[in-house]
Amino acid sequence: MSSAQSHSLVPSYDLLLKGGHVIDPKNHIDRICDVAIASNAIATVAPDIDPAPATKVIDVTDHIVTPGIVDIHVHVYHTRAPEGDPEGLSVLADAHSFRSGVTTMVDTGTAGARHLRHFKQTVIDRAKTRIFAYVNIVDQGMQGDFEQDPRTFDPELAASMVLAYPDICVGIKTAHYWTHRPWDDLHTPWAAVDQAIRAAEMCQKPVMYDFWPRPERPYPDLILKKARPGDIHTHVFAQQFPIIDDDGHVYRYMFEAQARGVIFDLGHGAGSFWFRNGARAIAGGFVPDSISTDLHTHSMNSTVGDMQTTMSKVLNMGVSLQEVIKRSTINPANEIGHPELGHLSAGAGADVAVFKLHTGQFGFIDCGRAKLTGDKKLECALTIRNGEIVYDLGGLSAPEWMQAPPAYWSVRNP
Ligand SMILES: [Zn+2]
Repeated sequence: MSSAQSHSLVPSYDLLLKGGHVIDPKNHIDRICDVAIASNAIATVAPDIDPAPATKVIDVTDHIVTPGIVDIHVHVYHTRAPEGDPEGLSVLADAHSFRSGVTTMVDTGTAGARHLRHFKQTVIDRAKTRIFAYVNIVDQGMQGDFEQDPRTFDPELAASMVLAYPDICVGIKTAHYWTHRPWDDLHTPWAAVDQAIRAAEMCQKPVMYDFWPRPERPYPDLILKKARPGDIHTHVFAQQFPIIDDDGHVYRYMFEAQARGVIFDLGHGAGSFWFRNGARAIAGGFVPDSISTDLHTHSMNSTVGDMQTTMSKVLNMGVSLQEVIKRSTINPANEIGHPELGHLSAGAGADVAVFKLHTGQFGFIDCGRAKLTGDKKLECALTIRNGEIVYDLGGLSAPEWMQAPPAYWSVRNP
């Protein structure tokens, strides 16, 4: 029985994180204090909580304590690998999430409506990481012709699956509609965007746009005319987006779109994050609303690495640690319609990340073969998912070996 279930009037805790610098932007907490967890939920966040009623106390002095990180652009649904691509696209969620403090991931359209149930059964229901999905407007998702053929767009089917699985689905995704087929009557410039919006209107969810501007579909039209408030443009610092003018300033329409309520997401990926755009935009006052990785097999070792590295890049482009955490917790949680996530309010599920903020000299690579040298780097030390310690490679929660019991288990009684 956990101490939290005892019938005492004194509060009791299963876990107490003591002495860390807590940054919880939703609750405007940015100071040294303790985080108490009981029955898989946040019990209280306060300075100097008495450790006596805690079953386990972890000293997190000199660490940053945040809500579990929310990464709203990943690929974790394992489909058949296309020919010539033995690895396939998706990564294992649990292999990449917790080591970066991530407790919630959103798969962005790897699955279409036809594979959503399979995705749920084979990945979402089995992973320790909490996983949501944007349903691809293409019925087969990111298989086959890779989202080029408008005959495969099925707004009715996509919306019906979102409505059938409201606990999993957070929106509609359109992506990679880049070819130009003037000989094809259906392949109109805005077909993918328009059909995604149709589906989203039917199920009352946002669209996430991965977009390729062309003369017949200019980028400002996407963010000023097509995208609705609450819709998300991911990959905002990709090279193809005209967000910086010839003088190095941010185009006004970026701020106008933000004022309209259009959400901008970083969505790093293997080809969609350039310091030449990002650093200039941030210096000009344009900061994406959310930070995400677009983690997949082609970005995991080449450019992205992981969420903590992506967050560190934004930190070194001049965004404060508090704003980086906000854009990796409560902002993305709100963007996907899950305001119960991304904060440490009493009663919230106990998803917590603990980071070390290193100072020194660190190199960071982008997708345009350029690097930024910075002086700050976040490293996840410990992750708690639903009250359970799921990552602690440095042994923050373990005793020194000399103080450890003689045997953790015996051969006779394993
Ligand atoms: Zn992606």
